[in-house]
Amino acid sequence: MEKTQQLHIFFFPFMAQGHIIPTIDMVKLFASRGHKATIITTPYYVLLLSKTIQKTSVYGSLINVLTLEFPCAENGLPQWCQSLDMASTPDLLSKFFKATTTLGTKLDQLLQQHRPDCLVADMLFPWATDVAARYGIPRLIFHGTCFFALCATVCVYRYAPHKDVTSDCDPFLIPNLPGEISLTRSQLPDFDTDDVETQFVKLFREINETNERSYGVLVNSFYELERVYADHYRKGLGFKSWHIGPLFLYNKMDEEDRANRGMEPSIDEHECMNWLNSKKPNSVIYVCFGSLADFDDAQLLEIAHGLEASGQEFIWVVKKGKHEGVKAEWLPVGFEKRMEGKGLIIRGWAPQMLILQHEAMGGFVTHCGWNSTLEGICAGLPMVTWPVLADQFYNEKLITQILGIGVSIDNRRWSMFMVDCMKREATENAVSRLMVGEEAEEMRSRARALGEMAKGAVEEGGSSCSDLNALIEELKQRKMVPDSS
Ligand code: UDP
Repeated sequence: MEKTQQLHIFFFPFMAQGHIIPTIDMVKLFASRGHKATIITTPYYVLLLSKTIQKTSVYGSLINVLTLEFPCAENGLPQWCQSLDMASTPDLLSKFFKATTTLGTKLDQLLQQHRPDCLVADMLFPWATDVAARYGIPRLIFHGTCFFALCATVCVYRYAPHKDVTSDCDPFLIPNLPGEISLTRSQLPDFDTDDVETQFVKLFREINETNERSYGVLVNSFYELERVYADHYRKGLGFKSWHIGPLFLYNKMDEEDRANRGMEPSIDEHECMNWLNSKKPNSVIYVCFGSLADFDDAQLLEIAHGLEASGQEFIWVVKKGKHEGVKAEWLPVGFEKRMEGKGLIIRGWAPQMLILQHEAMGGFVTHCGWNSTLEGICAGLPMVTWPVLADQFYNEKLITQILGIGVSIDNRRWSMFMVDCMKREATENAVSRLMVGEEAEEMRSRARALGEMAKGAVEEGGSSCSDLNALIEELKQRKMVPDSS
């Protein structure tokens, strides 16, 4: 590609699997189009990145990784706490976020030195817009969520409907959001109800303010999935944005790539596939709550009982860590013996993408993280929705209310550190409803149709592919005539 036509794009994801994974997909996507892509990250993630990038031999030379130290010591964090999932107490979490706010100086140096044509930075780095502006570099925001959640977040921020209700469990309608979507205050983070400018209130105010004055927003979604909300975000709420997803569908991944997303799996991928190969199509439910949500023993015990009572075959991912003891307090007596051949527990990290795309899969119990949601949709799976925090409560509404491909477990409380316990009957009932009967079949067939649309969106001429081309053309124009926008 001619130098004048070639873009150099910087990507700066937040230090969390759910943010790094789609960014790697983006980096590969731009490099596969002949553009230089540089990803900035901390040493903890470099190893993972190098492995993935080495494999992209055809265009791998266009991908560059720049490392910056994560300032643990300066912020009172232990040296091992380098990824959001490791910040497992309120104190660590607060220090972790504080540490990220000090990365601006280093970013400044890198931008000054390399002068890329564009910076795609995580929404959790609101300060990145001003740093990029010092060098005339346009900053695109990557929120890592869908249009529906983006619209809902803006409307809650602008109109503050939660301030008009008297109790945390009173539902309120989100104003100016198509579709009569209601929520309760308990499904919002504490800082949305807090008028005192704490660390997180400040961060989210800055994120919302930065949205208004960045170059635009990149959305890992496709138009056919949520056209009303894509239009509303642009025309109704006034945000310049490009939908370019599902990002992971562009790059043809082999089995190893699909197994090693985000971390090395805790189970041998062949063992997992063999287990699934022995099952009938659509017969297994996959239960996983992403990289952050960590349920306590009491909640895990309820899930175990619920799964057993549902009578469905399952793969259940349980985070490693405090549940590792010799005596598993979170499992009913004799559970593993009774479930032999029927249920597979993965302790740690699962090869999720590989599992979801297996024909034995019939449903997905998910925390509604956007990556998992999109992976479920692309695999044509209906979902039991069990949101825990962040955009997950909005994603749940999209899945159940707008798309009609899910059953809600009805969790009403946002919590970074689990407080409420959902009873076993909630799991049993939702899983049974999702897997058996006419309603289940209808949801599955709608999910399949959406999965097909997703594939079409990233093909040449598809909606996401066209939006990606438009973005690249706009950035090229800007590179030639810097004041053109
Ligand atoms: N993931 C995985 N194995 C696991 C747990 C998660 O591969 O055991 C991947 C999952 O496929 C998704 C990402 O990690 O791509 C999680 O992102 P998501 O937005 O769903 O949730 P978060 O972890 O940010 O809460």
